[in-house]
Amino acid sequence: MRGTKIKVEYIYHSGYAVETENYYMVFDYFKGDIELPDKPVIVFVSHSHPDHFNEDIFKWTLASDDITYILSDDIMVPSNGRIRLMGPYERLDFTDFSVETFGSTDQGVSFLVQVDGASLFFAGDLHWWHWEEDSLEEKAQMERDFKSEIDRIRGKQIDLAFFPVDPRLGDHYSLGGKYFVDNIKPKHFFPLHFGDNFEIINEFINIPMANSTHIHGIHKRNHIFEIK
Ligand SMILES: [Zn+2]
Repeated sequence: MRGTKIKVEYIYHSGYAVETENYYMVFDYFKGDIELPDKPVIVFVSHSHPDHFNEDIFKWTLASDDITYILSDDIMVPSNGRIRLMGPYERLDFTDFSVETFGSTDQGVSFLVQVDGASLFFAGDLHWWHWEEDSLEEKAQMERDFKSEIDRIRGKQIDLAFFPVDPRLGDHYSLGGKYFVDNIKPKHFFPLHFGDNFEIINEFINIPMANSTHIHGIHKRNHIFEIK
C-alpha cells in the first residue's frame, strides 16, 4: 500500500464498500444502506446467490454516471460496455486498475483488485466449508479444493482481504479464515458472511494467528474503518 488512505465500510453480510483516492468499490451488495459518492464506482459481484447479488445494483446508474460492473459470469445479464463478466482465472486491465479472478469452493469467483497502490482480495464464497452433515469424503474433497485454491493465491501481496467467517459452521467457523490468514498473510482482514452475528466476529479476532494481520472486528452495520 503506497501511503494511500482507504475507507472501508461494512454494509451487511458480505457487502462492503471500499473507497480509495480515485474509486468507490462495492462488493457483493445484497441489502443495507449505501450512498454512492461523486467518483467513479466499480460494482463487484462474486456470484449469483441471493445473499450476494441484488438486481437493485443496476438502478445505481441513476445515481452515478461513471459506474462499471464486474460480475461473475454465472450472473445472467448480457455483458456490455458497462458490464464485464468474468470466470475464474481471468484478468481484466483497465487504465488504472486491474482485476484478476480466482475460483470459489461454492459458486462464481473471488477477486484480486489492484487499485490506487493497494491490493484487495474479496473471497465471495471461497471458503473451507466444513459442514457437520457432509460425509468424510465430501469433507476431504472440500479441504483439497480449498487448499489448492489458496495455493494459487499464495505469494500475492494483499493489503485488504475480505473473507468468510460463518457462524453456521459451528465449531469450524474459523477454519478457513485462520488458514487464509496464516498462509496468505494479508495486512488487514475483514470478515464476511456472518449476517448480524457480531459476537462470532469478536470471538474470531481473539484467535491466535501466525502473523501480524490486523483482523477488524465489526460491531454494527455501516461500521466504517479508515486504513492508512
Ligand atoms: Zn455465500
